[in-house]
Amino acid sequence: MHILKCDNCRKEIKNREQRVVAGLGWNEKELCLDCGRPVKNFLLKKKLISAEEFAKLK
Ligand SMILES: [Zn+2]
Repeated sequence: MHILKCDNCRKEIKNREQRVVAGLGWNEKELCLDCGRPVKNFLLKKKLISAEEFAKLK
């Protein structure tokens, strides 16, 4: 079984719901929630995602 790991801190991601995917298709990074939170905040701040999309990401 494929084990998901955070591309930043290498922590195992046990649940697909507990990850943040950042990137543009060919260069996707999977991050744990701890590492992904600043990414989501960044995207929101730069208005790359809407508040609605932001809410969908946990
Ligand atoms: Zn991480």
